Amino acid sequence: MKCPQCQGILVTLEFNRIEIDYCTRCEGIWLDFGELRLLLAQGEKGDSLLRTMTPARSKEKKRRCPICSKGMGEILIGDGGSILLDECPEHGMWFDRGELVKVLEAGCADSLKHARASSLLQLLDEVFTLCKE
Ligand SMILES: [Zn+2]
Ligand SMILES: [Zn+2]
Repeated sequence: MKCPQCQGILVTLEFNRIEIDYCTRCEGIWLDFGELRLLLAQGEKGDSLLRTMTPARSKEKKRRCPICSKGMGEILIGDGGSILLDECPEHGMWFDRGELVKVLEAGCADSLKHARASSLLQLLDEVFTLCKE
């Protein structure tokens, strides 16, 4: 699969038994449909975060879905719509560098969020370093 942002090749990683596709060039992440919910660990906090998703329109350039190549829509998520994501309603979501960590911090239970966000960062860091060598 190609990165919708920079056309780099996405590498598949496993995080918390969920497959995520990571671009080692621009550090963006693709999640297949439904994987975000799994990553947020089915908590009340995750559900209420998912309910904050609203369609958006920004001046950012439209990206294409890496699976079907259709233009993706934009959505805002988080308290006050603080994070902007790209979404293909059929296939999944694109997170720019650092955005998935923010979403995890906003949507995981307090007891879990730091551990989960930092283990994601650690995994990405390792792969990023590996690919640069
Ligand atoms: Zn990329
Ligand atoms: Zn698609």
